[in-house]
Amino acid sequence: MKKFKRVLVANRGEIAIRVFRACQELGIRTVAIYSQEDRTALFRTKADESYLIGKNKGPIEAYLDIDEIIHLALNKGVDAIHPGYGFLAENPEFAKKCMEAGIEFIGPTHEMMEKVGDKISSKLVAQKAGVPTIPGIEKPIKTDEEAKEFAQACGYPVMLKAAAGGGGRGMRIVRKEEELLSAFHSAKNEAKKAFGIDDIFIEKYLESPKHIEVQILGDKMGNIVHLYERDCSIQRRHQKILEFTPAFAFSATKREEICQDALKIAREVNYVNAGTVEFLVDHHGNHYFIEMNPRIQVEHTITEMVTGIDIVQAQILIAQGYSLNSPEINIPHQDCIETRGYAIQCRITTEDPNNQFAPDTGKIEVYRTGSGFGIRLDGGNGYTGAVISPYYDSLLVKTISHSRTFEDAARKAIRSIKELTIRGIKTNSAFLVNILKHETFLNGQCDTNFIENHPELFQ
Ligand code: ADP
Repeated sequence: MKKFKRVLVANRGEIAIRVFRACQELGIRTVAIYSQEDRTALFRTKADESYLIGKNKGPIEAYLDIDEIIHLALNKGVDAIHPGYGFLAENPEFAKKCMEAGIEFIGPTHEMMEKVGDKISSKLVAQKAGVPTIPGIEKPIKTDEEAKEFAQACGYPVMLKAAAGGGGRGMRIVRKEEELLSAFHSAKNEAKKAFGIDDIFIEKYLESPKHIEVQILGDKMGNIVHLYERDCSIQRRHQKILEFTPAFAFSATKREEICQDALKIAREVNYVNAGTVEFLVDHHGNHYFIEMNPRIQVEHTITEMVTGIDIVQAQILIAQGYSLNSPEINIPHQDCIETRGYAIQCRITTEDPNNQFAPDTGKIEVYRTGSGFGIRLDGGNGYTGAVISPYYDSLLVKTISHSRTFEDAARKAIRSIKELTIRGIKTNSAFLVNILKHETFLNGQCDTNFIENHPELFQ
């Protein structure tokens, strides 16, 4: 067992604060890194120590400089690094270099990450584990001819996807052959720009599926459990906006089946630490694996609310070598995990829904939050006087509501969002309230085209 004394978070904003809080509760000293552009950001003040990085680099590049971050960590006597999500969180080279430097990477090993981090290789892992995947061709398309041939074999409509994809980028729906080649080339360019790798593969496009994902935790002794599922179907441009759990639109049997399939995939790679296995479920109730995210996710909070398990603390304890059945983590077996009630997470962003969700920037003149019974707020950069820069993710605060019924969790979320007063900058608050009041949402029936099919949400 390796007891961590100091943990560095190689990230910013709300997830950095989330990890600092978990560390503080575990008695671990926290170290923040921040870019020039984040000099006045709130998250750095929440750590015990904070250091400027990337002096001569751009705002994003600062958080991506593996060697500088590891060098700083070594200098400051850091035992472990938590990567959060985004930035270096899914970069096997970073995980490997941490290990080589004698610093624990709080996440899976670089080998595991390589097996599941890529959308093509993870589909092959799922197939090997006997889990259904979306029909497609699991190899990168090399030529225009191959694109045509593969699309024909799948049958239109098809989905083109970047193997290295994330955040909905490098993805194109193609309904007929005339649209194929331009979609292929633009997906390739987008993937190259976003990920540096332009491998594109193809699979059948499912019409209006539901996105259901399963939270996994595995320790270094080989114990793996699931923490049930989340419904993340409410999306815009393939990016999640609002998530809830349990996914009550499905029967308990169906949900159990999906959770068991997620476990099969995690077991196939002897997965360690926190991870998420994602599925799409079609109109007939068939589920298909789409990808595995080897990191903490933005929406981990709702799982924490219904299970009572602190996933970030568990990540840190697992990295120190604790087993799931240790008193510190206290999950001796799967049956010990029960869910209680319903939880909903709304992502409040500094975006203008009535102007195609264009990010807004500038000074927050007034910032007052709405908490109270059943509300958890995981904030990033919001306070009166804060300046929202154009460089980073527009997530301002996550409103997480928890209650005995779904309707009440929705009412609590609405109440909290209405109490939230933000002046000086536009947010998507009113848009989120419209979703929370919508009948389809309240029935749990929303699919991934819900926003597109309901223009009244924008009123
Ligand atoms: P990313 O890693 O970029 O988030 P995912 O593979 O997780 O991409 O997919 C994101 C979303 O894109 C899914 O939740 C779903 O809405 C949509 N999607 C992905 N693959 C398909 C598909 N084959 N058919 C229909 N929708 C899809």
